Amino acid sequence: MALSWAPVAGVVRLLVRWSLQAEQSLLRALGVQPFHPALAVQAPLSCPPEKFDEDASDNGPSFLDSIFWMAAPKSRRTIEVNRCRRRNPNKLVKEKNNIDTCPQCGHLKLKHVLCGFCYEKVRHETHLIRKEIEAVEGGPFKAPTVETILLYEGEKPHPGDEGKRIIEQKRKRPSWFPK
Ligand SMILES: [Zn+2]
Repeated sequence: MALSWAPVAGVVRLLVRWSLQAEQSLLRALGVQPFHPALAVQAPLSCPPEKFDEDASDNGPSFLDSIFWMAAPKSRRTIEVNRCRRRNPNKLVKEKNNIDTCPQCGHLKLKHVLCGFCYEKVRHETHLIRKEIEAVEGGPFKAPTVETILLYEGEKPHPGDEGKRIIEQKRKRPSWFPK
C-alpha cells in the first residue's frame, strides 16, 4: 500500500500561508513594516540532485522537501570518551582557598569582598534613616548644608552640636553602630 503525502502537504502549506498572512496583518495594524527574509540560503553542492520519480510526479512536492537536513553524528561515542570530556579538569569547579570568617559577625565570606550579612544590616539601617529624614524634611533634596547628627533613643545632643542638622530615631542604637 502506497501512502500518499499529498493531502497532508496541502493542509500544511495552507496552514503556513494563513499564519503568515495573520502575522503580516497584525504587524500592519501595529504600524510595523512587515519584514521579508533578507537572506536566501542556497543548498550545498553536496546535496544530490532530486531524482524525478514518474510515480510521484502527479503527487506534487512533498513537505519534507523544504527541510534542510543538518549534520548528524556518524557513530556513537563510547561512555569512556563522554566521561573523559565531562570530567575534564577544566570543566570541574575550582577549589577556593580564599574563604574567611567575617571579624564582625562570624559568617563565611571571601577574603577580598565585603561581608554580605553585614552589608545587608547596614543597608537596612540606612533605609530606615532615609525614611525618617523624608518624614521630617519632606524629601531627600531639602537637606541643609550643615553636619548631620544621628540621635537614637535615650541620646542627647552635645553642647557643641548647636545649629547642626539633627535626625532623631525612635529606636535603640544598634550594637554595631558606633557613636
Ligand atoms: Zn559580617
